[in-house]
Amino acid sequence: MSEKITLTPISYTGWNSLSNLENEVKRFNVNKVLVISDPFLVDIGVTDKVVKPLDKAGYKTEIYTDVVPEPPLAIGEKLVTYTREHNFEMVIGVGGGSALDLTKLAGVLATQEGEVKDYLNLTGTKEILNKGLPKILIPTTSGTGSEVTNISVLSLETTKDVVTHDYLLADVAIVDPALTLSLPPKVTAATGIDALTHAIEAYVSKNSSPVTDGMALHAIRLISSSITTAVLEGENKEARIKMSYGSYLAGLAFFNAGVAGVHALAYPLGGQFHISHGDSNAVLLPYVMGYIRQSCEERLKDIFEAMGYNATGLSSEEASYKCVAEIKTMVKDVNIPTNLKDFQITEDALEGLTDDATKQKRLLDRSPMLLEKQDIFAIYKAAYDGEIVEK
Ligand code: NAD
Repeated sequence: MSEKITLTPISYTGWNSLSNLENEVKRFNVNKVLVISDPFLVDIGVTDKVVKPLDKAGYKTEIYTDVVPEPPLAIGEKLVTYTREHNFEMVIGVGGGSALDLTKLAGVLATQEGEVKDYLNLTGTKEILNKGLPKILIPTTSGTGSEVTNISVLSLETTKDVVTHDYLLADVAIVDPALTLSLPPKVTAATGIDALTHAIEAYVSKNSSPVTDGMALHAIRLISSSITTAVLEGENKEARIKMSYGSYLAGLAFFNAGVAGVHALAYPLGGQFHISHGDSNAVLLPYVMGYIRQSCEERLKDIFEAMGYNATGLSSEEASYKCVAEIKTMVKDVNIPTNLKDFQITEDALEGLTDDATKQKRLLDRSPMLLEKQDIFAIYKAAYDGEIVEK
C-alpha cells in the first residue's frame, strides 16, 4: 500500500518568519500585488506588517478588504471578478481561514472562465485548467491550516461547500506566530480547537498513514499543552509559538489524511446558524468521538497520551473513554459551550441539520465508523442534550 503526500512547496515557520516575505515575492518577478485581508486586521495594523515592506521595496500593492468570516459564495464571486478585471500578478492572503480561502480562490479562478459556483465540489461542473496567479498565504490565526491545504470553503444558504484542486495550494506559506498575538481569547479558543479537531480527525481517519500520524500526534501534543495558556494569556509567546506549529502540522495532517464526521456535521451548523467554523467543530468534537469511540479505541488511547495523560495500565477501551471525556473538558476549559442549546439551537432544527450533513459524503467517507442518517441525528441529539452517547 502506498500513500500520496502533498505539501506546499515552501513554508517558513517560526517567530519572525514574516521577514522572508520580500525575498519570496522577488522570486516571482511580479509588480502588481493584491493583498486580501479582513478590515479588522487592517484596522489593528496586522496587514501593514505585510504591505509596508513591499511598498517600500517598490511593489504596487492594493489591499482588498471585502472579506467576512465564513465567507459566502457571493463574496467569493465578487473578489474573483475584481481580481480578473484588475490584472493583478500575485495574490497574498493575510488573515484567518476566511481571508486565506478567498485568496486561493481568487488566485486560481482569476485565470479560469465562469463563476465560482461552477467549480463547487458538490454541484459544480467546470474543471480548473491552469494554476492561476502565484499565491502567498500568511495565517494570523492558529487554526484552519488553510495555508497548506488545497481547499477553499464557502458558505451557502444552509451549509458549506468547497472548491478543491492542487492548483489552490500556496506557492509559499509563511506561518509567523508573532501575527497571532492580537487574537482575542474567544477566537484563540475556537480556532485552536479547530486545529485540534484537524489533528484528531486526521489521526483516526481511514486515510491516515505513518506520515500523517506523526504530524497529527505532534500537533495534538503542541496544541493540548498550550491552548489554555494561549486563551488566558494572549501575549504568552511560548504558547503562541506552540499553537502556530500545532495548527500548521494539523493542517498538513488533515490535508493528507482527511477530516470526517466532525467537519461533516459542523458545516450545517455554520451554514444554518452562522456559528464560526471553530465553535461548530468544538461543540461537536466530543460527541462525534464518543459516538465512534469503539471504532478507534487504540487511536484514542494514543491521542489521550499525546494530550499529556498517563495511560499506563489502562486498556485501550478505558483510555478511549477517558480521552473523549478529556476532549470535552478541554473544550469547556477554553470557554466554548459544550452543547447545542447554548448556541440557541432548538431541538426541531436537528432534522434539518441531519439532512444537510448527510450530503457531505467526501468527509463522511473517511470516518472510521460508517455514519448513516440515523447516526448523524443521534450525534446531533447527543450534542443538543450535552450527553455523550455511543453507537
Ligand atoms: P476567520 O478567518 O473567519 O477569522 C475570525 C475572526 O478573527 C475575524 O473577525 C478576524 O478579523 C479575526 N482575526 C484573525 N486574525 C486575527 C488576529 N491576529 N488578531 C485579531 N483578530 C484576528 O477565522 P478562521 O477560523 O481562521 O477561518 C474560518 C474559515 O476557514 C471558515 O470559512 C472555515 O470554513 C475555513 N476553513 C478552511 C480550511 C481550509 O483548509 N481551507 C480549513 C478549516 C476551515
